[in-house]
Amino acid sequence: MTRMDKLVYLDNAATTKMKKNVLDSMIPFMTDAFYNPSASYEKAKETKKKIETAREQIAKVINAKPEEIYFTSGGSESDNWALKGIAFSNYEKGKHIITSAIEHPAILSTTRWLKDQGFDITYLNVNKDGIINIEELEKSIRPDTTLISIMSANNEIGSIQPLKEIGAIARQHKIPFHTDAVQAFGHIKIDVSKMKIDLLSASGHKIYGPKGVGILYVKSGIKMESLVHGGEQENGRRAGTYNVPGIIGMGTAASMALERLNNSSEEEIRDYFIKRILEDIPLSKLNGGTKFRLPNNINARFDSVDAEALLVMLGQRGICASAGSACTAGNTEPSHVLSAIGLTSKEANNSIRLTISDETTKKDVDYAVKVIKECVGRLRGRT
Ligand SMILES: *Cc1c(COP(=O)(O)O)cnc(C)c1O
Repeated sequence: MTRMDKLVYLDNAATTKMKKNVLDSMIPFMTDAFYNPSASYEKAKETKKKIETAREQIAKVINAKPEEIYFTSGGSESDNWALKGIAFSNYEKGKHIITSAIEHPAILSTTRWLKDQGFDITYLNVNKDGIINIEELEKSIRPDTTLISIMSANNEIGSIQPLKEIGAIARQHKIPFHTDAVQAFGHIKIDVSKMKIDLLSASGHKIYGPKGVGILYVKSGIKMESLVHGGEQENGRRAGTYNVPGIIGMGTAASMALERLNNSSEEEIRDYFIKRILEDIPLSKLNGGTKFRLPNNINARFDSVDAEALLVMLGQRGICASAGSACTAGNTEPSHVLSAIGLTSKEANNSIRLTISDETTKKDVDYAVKVIKECVGRLRGRT
């Protein structure tokens, strides 16, 4: 990157830049208000109160009750807890779990582990837009099914699942419904009551909040095993001294996200970005559909261009993007998500993901498209 190039961060699905308001709200809890919220003196009680405010701020985003929000160390822990907690508490009833083929590794690695523990897993296929088939879901339900876990929105192609329809079917069959909403929480409207969601994972650092903090929403009355045994925090269901600054920061980030939900221009910028790519760059295609897609997600492929080489070149010009998910970066296997929507491994390896933030401008997009076009041209010229 030369001194003249500007930096355009287009990897907001991997992590987001923390907002200043979020940081400001956290600092007191790393300095003067350092108390352990579980202690009994007044100062500690004040801190505990702030934790309860954060719980309310987060619950409001998904129309849950504050007491249904459990703090965790992030999306991966929430996903692990939801799956293992439900699977083992229903061990006697059955060992069948339904999920999808395009889940995040935090789900897929956990289901693989559960399979080794004797559980039976069904992976639902998706169509070319990355959406599951509701009839296929209903057909895959068995008397021994104890959990349905389908992500709200995909981290690679941004596809949004029909949550309300999934929730209706799960409730009708009295099967708990978990959704990995790490990409969706605070980015699209989710109502756990209307959508009949029983468990939901979210993470602070995907909504301009801090890293290392997340939540699992667990509907009142849901039976599940604890993941971390120890003290009495979180009703004894998730022990460990509170990550106070992280929790306060996630609360602030959640209330800011709720405000943005009603007046965001992200979708317009996304559509402009897609249009510019398809118009300006020869032999380029959009991966996934346009109708049910996260407002910040673009995933495109460029014929005969190696995505890894393109990303290195873009990085040198100040454009931060990624291929597939960050969790599999460096891996030469084609993305399981792009394979699931029907791309050949060649097409998958021609693909990059560009995820915008609420601060990305049309000017940033114009610059990015210009640079991508130049790099794509150079890489094609080499072969
Ligand atoms: C980022 C992400 C996770 C993991 O969340 P962490 O807080 O980073 O552990 C899980 N699922 C999805 C869909 C994600 O995008």
